[in-house]
Amino acid sequence: MPPRLDVALAAPLWRPLSYAVAPELAPIIRPLTRLLVPVRGKPRLAFALGAPQEGDTEGLKPVSDVLDEAGAPQLIPSELLGFFTRAAAYYQAPLGQALAWSLPGGLGGIEPGAIKAPGRAQAAWAAWRDGDPDQAPRPGTQGAKVLELLLEQSPRSLDALRPDFPGITAIARRLEAGGWLSLTHKPVVKDLIGRPILPEPEPEAYSDEQAAALAQIEPAIKDHTFRPFLLYGITGSGKTEVYVASCAVALATGRQALVLAPEIGLCLRLEGLLKERFGPDKVAVLHSGLSPAVRRGQWLAIARGETPIVVGARSAVFAPLANLGVICLDEEQDESYKQNDRLRYHARDMALLRAQEQACPVVLGTATPAVTTYERARQGGLETLRLTKRIKQAVLPLMEVVDLKSAGKLAGGFLSLRLKQAIEQTVAQGRQVILFLNRRGFAPALICPSCGQRVGCPACSLSLTLHKKKNAMVCHTCGHNAPIPAACPSCGQGEAGLKPLGLGTEQVSETLQQLLPDMRLGRLDRDAASSPAQLRQVLSAVAKRELDVIVGTQMLTKGHHLPGIGLVGILLADQALSLPDFRAAERAYILLTQAAGRAGREGEAGRVIVQTFDPHHHAVTAALAHDPEAFYAEELDERRALGYPPFARLVGLRLEGASEAATARASHALARALEQARAKIEPRAAVLGPAPAPIARAAGRWRWLILLKSPTSSAAAEILRLGRHRAGPPPSGVRLLVDVDPLSLI
Ligand code: ADP
Ligand code: ZN
Repeated sequence: MPPRLDVALAAPLWRPLSYAVAPELAPIIRPLTRLLVPVRGKPRLAFALGAPQEGDTEGLKPVSDVLDEAGAPQLIPSELLGFFTRAAAYYQAPLGQALAWSLPGGLGGIEPGAIKAPGRAQAAWAAWRDGDPDQAPRPGTQGAKVLELLLEQSPRSLDALRPDFPGITAIARRLEAGGWLSLTHKPVVKDLIGRPILPEPEPEAYSDEQAAALAQIEPAIKDHTFRPFLLYGITGSGKTEVYVASCAVALATGRQALVLAPEIGLCLRLEGLLKERFGPDKVAVLHSGLSPAVRRGQWLAIARGETPIVVGARSAVFAPLANLGVICLDEEQDESYKQNDRLRYHARDMALLRAQEQACPVVLGTATPAVTTYERARQGGLETLRLTKRIKQAVLPLMEVVDLKSAGKLAGGFLSLRLKQAIEQTVAQGRQVILFLNRRGFAPALICPSCGQRVGCPACSLSLTLHKKKNAMVCHTCGHNAPIPAACPSCGQGEAGLKPLGLGTEQVSETLQQLLPDMRLGRLDRDAASSPAQLRQVLSAVAKRELDVIVGTQMLTKGHHLPGIGLVGILLADQALSLPDFRAAERAYILLTQAAGRAGREGEAGRVIVQTFDPHHHAVTAALAHDPEAFYAEELDERRALGYPPFARLVGLRLEGASEAATARASHALARALEQARAKIEPRAAVLGPAPAPIARAAGRWRWLILLKSPTSSAAAEILRLGRHRAGPPPSGVRLLVDVDPLSLI
């Protein structure tokens, strides 16, 4: 009886499928081995859910092929089955789909590393064609055809042969068993990746606080136990060295380390540092700034166990490390950790889950914990390690607020007299200035003075952003890109001329050049630094003091090491506060605190000037007073009163469709079903909506929202399961996106 195997198909399918397994393949299939299985006559990617078992295979189709090589480490180690099962269940995604989504592009269905070379059998085979040894593949069979091909050209990759020989792995293994050929693995292609911006010397001794933190983390790594830590330390307190030291402990105990940062710029710094300390061949890197080929190469190197340290952005939380000793995740509050398509995971939450599954500690580092993290630590769900002192100096920056309501005339429309003078003073002292505005482009809208209409995106219910240098109107939601119109697209009026409305970083740079003609200005946003190379270039120009003033978006406030900054100006703090979102205050507080962290890192006190219309908001006052406890206390009170996280779990459900009516109908039907499920399962939960999304139409699709609020995540999952089951799948043309713990609801 051939063995039988359950697999998870890489498709929106919830139940496992069963297949028969050829005897040649059975020994090389383990949990999470990638397979090709026939579905309606076509080979599809699937993942083994266990090893093949003796069982009834009556009526079952056989597995077509095995994609992971015999003897080689798998692309997703078997050890991660538990982690992925829980991750997929948590985010309401089918397991096979979650697994496929975690692989870098191109690794889903192919095996770029494995090749076949005919070995010593070549001569024997040639002899057999002429003479007649026993047990050779009969002419005309698939095995004989494969050998014929290999005699013409060798080595060949499995992938090259698979289209003509769908069961190539089984064929090759049979031939190998008979001594007719040999299977080898092609070495991984290596590539050059980012260099460090500044060399950072190894510390001679840890600070007392660093040492105390390590004294907690070290035993957890050595004891192989799950312990979640919050490394709560102000900017410049030396958190990074704690990560480095934790990696060293993990490696010394023969295990691996995973270091995560929210964005590429920070990955570059960590990569440089870790390669410097541990050697370049010990560190693999995974982030979207790498070419797909390099990413695949890195993934394979990790899977083969060649690189015990992995540095990366959010997707690296799925890196194929089978023997993990520690996870360090920097800037845990950063919203870039949330993936907003396909599997909508949060890398911080996945890091916690993974550490639990792989029995290792996880270190969440931050100067400004997310409100949910802060509360979790307060409740004892995280062990807090405090770093309260800056390594190189103890001076906190001087924080000042400019109330824009009474600031008088603003230079260039955005610069108060106080901020302008401060810029001039700072640059005169030979120090640098960062000006922050979280809006790229020239202006967020172009408006027609005669009809009052804004130039809108044809596919979304949004204004297009004016990008003057590129001569383009760009939709920041769907990417629509068109030349700047000469006349108003709505009324045709051209005489009056279309007027920019609002402020973006491009405009700030342009106007500053006029206001401060002697200064060397730079810009850092997704337009000015669209690739890691450009980002590195701008950051190194800042580090080498080739720039006096840098205007930038959020990208600038993250933990880059920029020692020359004497002044940080926040042009409009209200930008963060006015978002229609319960996290607006948290975002504003974090932004202000992080921006402050950029000022005056080396010895001299820095200065921070915050321009705002709302100087009495608790996010502003707490940041100005360097009083995090005041902010968290007030914010937690508000969240408790309104029933928002951490006091409730949220699940966002978005329905999208080209037909407005069908989308609305499906949304009402689903909301009704969820409401019934809620009443049955957890009366304290609430189903809000359906309602058209704040961005009611995007990329040509109408969007409706339903929000599920639940006191516990298990109740939320149950309500969803039952509600979705009762409502049935959405009608064709309407798509349902489920976002567990959503960060934005638009
Ligand atoms: P954080 O990540 O908390 O913002 P960093 O890790 O960037 O802080 O450390 C700030 C600076 O202090 C860096 O230049 C780093 O090289 C230096 N540093 C960290 N730990 C030590 C130490 N124990 N001794 C001397 N310098 C240190
Ligand atoms: Zn658009």
